Amino acid sequence: MTTSKTAAGTGTEGGAVLKLSAWRELLSYIRPYRGLVVAGGVLSTIGSLIGLVQPVVTKQLIDSLSDGRAVTGPIILLTGAVLLGALITTVGSYLLGRSAESVVRDSRRRLVSRILWLRLPQTAKFAPGDLMSRVTADTTLLREVASQALVDSGRGLLMFIAILTMMFLMDPVLVLVTLGVLVFAGILIGLVVPFFSRYNERVQKAVGEISSTLERSLGAFRMIKAAGLEPREEARAVDATTTAWKYGVRLAWLHGLVGACATLAIHVSFLAVLGIGGARVATGEIEIGTLVAFLLYLFYLLEPVGSLLEAASNLSAGLASARRIHEVQQLEVEPKPEAELARIAGGNGFAGGDPADKTPASVSFREVAFRYPGTEPLVHHEVTFDVPAGGITALVGPSGAGKSTVFALLERFYEPDGGRILLDGHDVRDWPLYLLRASIGYVEQDAPVLAGTLRENLLIGVPHADEADIERVLRQTRLDSLVDKLPDGVDTAVGHRGNTLSGGERQRVAVARALLRRPRLLLLDEVTSQLDAVNELALRETVAEAARELTVVVVAHRLSTVVQADRIVVLDAGKVRAVGTHHELVKTDPLYNELATTQLLVSDDAEQTAVG
Ligand code: ATP
Repeated sequence: MTTSKTAAGTGTEGGAVLKLSAWRELLSYIRPYRGLVVAGGVLSTIGSLIGLVQPVVTKQLIDSLSDGRAVTGPIILLTGAVLLGALITTVGSYLLGRSAESVVRDSRRRLVSRILWLRLPQTAKFAPGDLMSRVTADTTLLREVASQALVDSGRGLLMFIAILTMMFLMDPVLVLVTLGVLVFAGILIGLVVPFFSRYNERVQKAVGEISSTLERSLGAFRMIKAAGLEPREEARAVDATTTAWKYGVRLAWLHGLVGACATLAIHVSFLAVLGIGGARVATGEIEIGTLVAFLLYLFYLLEPVGSLLEAASNLSAGLASARRIHEVQQLEVEPKPEAELARIAGGNGFAGGDPADKTPASVSFREVAFRYPGTEPLVHHEVTFDVPAGGITALVGPSGAGKSTVFALLERFYEPDGGRILLDGHDVRDWPLYLLRASIGYVEQDAPVLAGTLRENLLIGVPHADEADIERVLRQTRLDSLVDKLPDGVDTAVGHRGNTLSGGERQRVAVARALLRRPRLLLLDEVTSQLDAVNELALRETVAEAARELTVVVVAHRLSTVVQADRIVVLDAGKVRAVGTHHELVKTDPLYNELATTQLLVSDDAEQTAVG
């Protein structure tokens, strides 16, 4: 799969580039909040540094006690330091938390925006579930980087140096003893940390696989159930959960190992310092108070060392996420309306005519050649035909002839490899994309109806349509009688993917939705399955009525549709082989005659006679 190839990188050089891009991606999210992060980090560090005063005050306390001096001063100082430290730490962690949440929000916004504006061919590069997991799970991991990892590493380093300095000021000899042990542990840890990144990436990839498997199954739930595929799909998802678990466990093990190494190093240092320090106290080289304070500082080292390790682990998880997010950010997107408007204002390209113009549109294909990205065979060779403004044009041809592809190219879901596609005489590439699509009403074969009410489904494209408009399209699509029978009329819920409606009704809802947008060109990919007589008649009447106001191009699978069409374009193996009316073509084109008699679904006796 493209995903894994890209994610893994292609070699050391590719991996290094990806690592760099991931860092850039990560920092680009944090940059807008650098002020907050720095403020939060500084406050948290000050809070921690205030804690460092405690051993000094403790030493004073011990010294005062052994000298019989008053201890009120050191006690007040100690209490003040604790309270001030707590307050500053709280404010610091709030600022960090706030910036972390903002980083997560921004990364989600950017990803969602990128995904919704993706060019259609780009969507083939990732499974939808994987994309969703990148928006939800991967972005969450950036939170730790923004709130903790960067600050922890900075603060941890600072604290580490500060504590070592204090220790050095107390007794340089004992610092050398401590450092010896710490350096040894550091080398051990350094060998282990690179595995964090690798395992984190595996976990996140597996989480993406869980999402994509579930998304795939839920998208074809009836088929999965009907074919008894639940065990197979379950096994796939369970495999992915096992992989996530396996690497999660390895990470937990590494965490434990690294943490144990660090704690052990501190404890070994403690014993060494106790031994050597005790000898130095005995010889009078240092005082007992100094040794106690030194040992306290030694234990204080646990915190920055822990912070640094935590930061390394969070950073590696964040980087793995940033890499996965970066892959999506690299995908090509379509121009947004604002960009198109700016282009037009700058005098570049065709402005797309008057958006208020609702007259029927004309379409021309001029020697169009096209192959789907990443595939070899040409789907369209030299497709040339004209659709004049108004009326019904039917596209007919054997399965796989390239009929639906005509619609995909008109909508600019894909770009042709050769030739030109014109709408109203202008190349579709020159049209502002949003205006091109606003001029076209596109009804797919398996017309999607979404969960919600009928009204919500109709209003998807035109949220502010008024009641009269809704009634008009319901009448036009002959859905008014259905609505009358529904318990809550147009406000009745239609179930998940509209499964309380029949196939024919679903398609008419989709046509109604398209008509509500008042397009100038209606592209209708007829359902291949047999419709009942009521639905068939309703759809035929709808199309005939629509064709009086706009241009209708229909991929026809039914004889009733082609008989009704003003012209029929016969496509075969990516070429236009004939154009004419039904009665002309049954006489002149053998393929059409054969299609009409065998493949187009005959709906009534009268039409069957017409074929003869
Ligand atoms: P049908 O009547 O069965 O719907 P059609 O004439 O509408 O067929 P198209 O859907 O246009 O045919 O497909 C034409 C060819 O392009 C087919 O061979 C199909 O396999 C291929 N094809 C369609 N969509 C894609 C895609 N997204 N990627 C690669 N190939 C595709």
